[in-house]
Amino acid sequence: MTERTLILVKPDGVARGLVGEVVSRLEAKGLRLVAAELRTLPRETAEQHYAEHSEKPFFGSLVDFITGGPLLALVAEGPRAIEAFRALAGATDPVKAAPGTIRGDFALEVQNNIVHGSDSPESAQREIGLFFPSL
Ligand code: GDP
Ligand code: MG
Repeated sequence: MTERTLILVKPDGVARGLVGEVVSRLEAKGLRLVAAELRTLPRETAEQHYAEHSEKPFFGSLVDFITGGPLLALVAEGPRAIEAFRALAGATDPVKAAPGTIRGDFALEVQNNIVHGSDSPESAQREIGLFFPSL
């Protein structure tokens, strides 16, 4: 049973030269790339992507951050790809993320945490549709 997930190397990850590191970790895990594109998000796409957080106090800052430079949008697939990538990414707060995870190894601040990964099959379908409508 293969599954697809939407992954972002966020603008902080791209700016810090961590694209290769992230792609290499997910490929080493066995996930297969289906789509990849470097792009700078318009605010409306960012607001749709993070709609579930629209009432949070950090929403404006999060949208500024995610639109602040180019990000790498990826779709990867494999068995339990959603859970597999969330495990590679680590906890949202990089200080709590285990060493050995992407966030645990490369980040210190909760907002600038290098990667995004869909959190459920419903989110993955919605996010893949938003970033790659032709898939
Ligand atoms: P994720 O699914 O692990 O990415 O975490 P969430 O869905 O809870 O949050 C989405 C994104 O918002 C996170 O990856 C962070 O970039 C950012 N974020 C989460 N919590 C905070 C916070 O308390 N403050 C700020 N500034 N950003 C946050
Ligand atoms: Mg989330």
